[in-house]
Amino acid sequence: MPLSDYEIVIGLEVHVELKTESKLFCACATNFGAAPNSQVCPVCLGLPGALPVLNEQALDYTIITGLALNCEIAEVSRFDRKQYFYPDLPKAYQISQYDQPFCENGWVEILLEDGTSKRIGIIRAHLEEEAGKSVHSGSGILGSEYSLEDYNRSGIPLIEIVSASAIRSPKEAKLYLEKLKTLLEYTRVSDCKMEEGSLRCDANISLRPWEGKEYGVLTEIKNMNSFRSVQAALEYEAERQAKLLDSGGKIVKQTRAWDENKGITFFMRAKEGAGDYQFFPDPDLAPVVIDSDRVKKLRQTLPELPDSRLKRYIEFWGLPQHDAGLISCSRPLAEFFEATVDLYDEAKTVSNWLLGELLRLVYQEQAELAELKFTPEQLAQMLKMIDAGIINGKIGKTVLETMFKTGMDPEAIVAERGLTQISDSGQLKTIVTEVLNANAKTVGDYLEGKEQAVRFLVGQVMKGTKGKANPEIVNQLLKQELAKRRSSNQESSADHREKKAKC
Ligand SMILES: [Zn+2]
Repeated sequence: MPLSDYEIVIGLEVHVELKTESKLFCACATNFGAAPNSQVCPVCLGLPGALPVLNEQALDYTIITGLALNCEIAEVSRFDRKQYFYPDLPKAYQISQYDQPFCENGWVEILLEDGTSKRIGIIRAHLEEEAGKSVHSGSGILGSEYSLEDYNRSGIPLIEIVSASAIRSPKEAKLYLEKLKTLLEYTRVSDCKMEEGSLRCDANISLRPWEGKEYGVLTEIKNMNSFRSVQAALEYEAERQAKLLDSGGKIVKQTRAWDENKGITFFMRAKEGAGDYQFFPDPDLAPVVIDSDRVKKLRQTLPELPDSRLKRYIEFWGLPQHDAGLISCSRPLAEFFEATVDLYDEAKTVSNWLLGELLRLVYQEQAELAELKFTPEQLAQMLKMIDAGIINGKIGKTVLETMFKTGMDPEAIVAERGLTQISDSGQLKTIVTEVLNANAKTVGDYLEGKEQAVRFLVGQVMKGTKGKANPEIVNQLLKQELAKRRSSNQESSADHREKKAKC
């Protein structure tokens, strides 16, 4: 059977590092990129007798995350020890949560390509500590002569978010991850940098025949370092499982790793079950009681989330779905948009400038949307200058770029660089005549019916005025002048025919 004869069943486990200043159970700093083992203490090194103390900020962030993911927040929760032996885990157990996580039974909504939306359930989101980081002498653990351990990461707070097995395609998996990242960025609990490892994802995947009720045997995939890799790894793994099942083989429950360069998944180890970890309540930490006032207060700190903004942009501001989706998925962009539209109410024009020129500049300069040098007031001011005919749209792009790089006011940029639009017909007519005289061939083409030749002529006039000409007036003047030349052309060829006939 081809892959299309199977239903793909996917569940994702996402690990997100919280952006707290200190670690989960000690006061060590959490800065990324510090000298190895410079941010450690007896607690996060697991020295005997050291006792953990819960970081209340990390708990607040966990509750905020749970609320943004529509979860129920536990009234009483608890930490458990998860036992395993690995050099990056100095205590030989990780403080995690087992049967009483802080957050359960939530959901996020994703927008599918056909325009419908789908809710993906969140089974749980729990709080745990990070392990340290192994640095191998070679390119990987196999073939390395030795490995070094950096415990700076050990004990950084981490939330594990477990989705229901409700994802039905690799593409849906990518959409779910993008939505999750958007929500986490909105709440500012994490910087979600996959390249720095502050957001990581493991995927479970199994296949079952369409009419089947039982889930198939799953494999778990690790080591994917971008959302695109998650999609690619799942596509590969679905094909692999289908081929194996078709040839009469059996899927064995296992953990596989994604090889980005080869584009394949490969066997890593047999998959552990919960029993292998021998969870038990951590006797060093008392159960955590969360009172409803705390949850209520944190709920009030939540910003308006992207789904609600998207709806408002479409219904109230009349933005197309595409624009509304792109703007609402970034909190800084959404806030910039709203502040601009408050001052200049052509929402679609604002959206065009933000999604076009601004995003181009942000991408080109590798800038952060949250750290723009210019303000919504300045953008609104510039758009009003275009409407008033002080500058044209093309010069607007130059002005925006200067605002983006310097934070200067648009009026100051226009004055300093002499960018005021030329709308004086007399002045423009002289330039139009010069351009027509200098481009006889193009004029000839136009007169012979090649209408698009006029675009070149407009371009020449704009060039002659360094982009400052009022394009409407230029168009008008060019058409007038060309019409004049057309009629004089027709007259002279009629004269010519007449003369010929007389001979
Ligand atoms: Zn420490």
